[in-house]
Amino acid sequence: MSTADSQTPSPTPSTTVTTFAQRLDAVQARIERACAAAGRDAAEVTLLPVSKTFDADVIREAVGLGLKRFGENRLQEIAQKAPLLEDCNVQWVVIGHVQTNKAKEVAKYASELQSLDRLALAEALDQRLKAAGRTLDVLVQLKTSPEESKFGLDPAELIGFLETLSGFETLRVKGLMTMAVLSDDQAAVRACFEKLRDCRDQAARHQIKGISLERLSMGMSGDLEWGIAEGSTEVRVGSALFGKR
Ligand SMILES: *Cc1c(COP(=O)(O)O)cnc(C)c1O
Repeated sequence: MSTADSQTPSPTPSTTVTTFAQRLDAVQARIERACAAAGRDAAEVTLLPVSKTFDADVIREAVGLGLKRFGENRLQEIAQKAPLLEDCNVQWVVIGHVQTNKAKEVAKYASELQSLDRLALAEALDQRLKAAGRTLDVLVQLKTSPEESKFGLDPAELIGFLETLSGFETLRVKGLMTMAVLSDDQAAVRACFEKLRDCRDQAARHQIKGISLERLSMGMSGDLEWGIAEGSTEVRVGSALFGKR
């Protein structure tokens, strides 16, 4: 055994160069650990892969591993990728701010909208969905951190908004969504998620006709454990799965 040999690093792959399959395993393991720590069944938490900014080829690889739903925040990007993935039966989940004049594209492409945050958008969607002869599953996005996200309904307006939404036959309300404050302060982040859960619990007591509030979409690459600890039923994960944007 020569000295030179003992100094040569072994050819182990760098941990930063992992495959999509490995990153998916790692994210699923994080979800399972967080559920175990919270005394929850991992089957209660859905993973929504967020593919925004990544190419159709990357999505195709993810489809090959059994993923079907993909979160995107721009309608224009969905319109570009959808024709390249026609054979994949992808379900596009819109998670970003939607301009009212994009309601037609939502009705065309989206299987679900998680960022419904105002009446004008609900009205435009209702009109476009009627024309398309279809319904749409929606989550109402709440603003739970005053400083960070510009978008989201004021929690004080939630009950009234849900009452109005119950009048739209095309919109199927399934729950709530939020983005926490961007911070590594656990207490600050969890306060946002706790707020969403409290709002859901309060609204659920009103038993508004046709409104289901079972789903809580909260938690991303940087805070999914805290989302799960606060009762998330769906984590939206981009960079931890697909890599840096
Ligand atoms: C981009 C995005 C995510 C995913 O963020 P990551 O930090 O990459 O996991 C989740 N939710 C929304 C609304 C987003 O826009």
